[in-house]
Amino acid sequence: MEHLDQADKEYLLEHIRDIKDFPKSGIVFKDITTLLNDARAFGLLIDHLTARYEKQDLDFIAGIESRGFIFGAALAARLDKGFVPIRKAGKLPYTTIGEKYALEYGFDEVEVHIDAFESDNVKDKKQPRVLLIDDLIATGGTAVAATNLINKAGAHCIEACMILNLTFLEGRSKLEKITSVYSVLDI
Ligand code: AMP
Repeated sequence: MEHLDQADKEYLLEHIRDIKDFPKSGIVFKDITTLLNDARAFGLLIDHLTARYEKQDLDFIAGIESRGFIFGAALAARLDKGFVPIRKAGKLPYTTIGEKYALEYGFDEVEVHIDAFESDNVKDKKQPRVLLIDDLIATGGTAVAATNLINKAGAHCIEACMILNLTFLEGRSKLEKITSVYSVLDI
């Protein structure tokens, strides 16, 4: 099902738990572990993403640490594509390239291995085509930095897929300036 109907969207939303004041006061944390441990919800989501992306010309799925790894790796295995982890600075063992982004106070940085988008499957391609995935877009800072990083690493981010879009924070419109955006659920 390339398009989710309202009942399916509601089923998924019912399986995302709100945790008030985590990790700090004033934040409502969207806990997707309750979606993952429900076989029907997780299956529905991955079936939907598979239907959406199976006909697209993709070379890699890149997931943002850490919940983007779960959805990204599951989808990559289904689509028979390589998976690339985009991690917080200092976590990847080999030579990396990074992209900094501003936080409310200070900055953060995401990194990817310098050769992440090279593999035998894409050796004749100048610009491998990458789908970026994460569980949630809030202010958009993380996804914008990850998209820039993919492009800096010599690949082309063809779309950013977010399971949840917190619409009141307007991160999506920032991200749309640099790539196509698909959000499964909008709240
Ligand atoms: P942002 O850069 O503000 O768009 O934040 C997105 C990143 O922070 C994603 O990797 C999310 O997993 C995480 N995140 C931000 N806000 C929340 C929230 N309310 N609940 C769960 N995760 C969040």
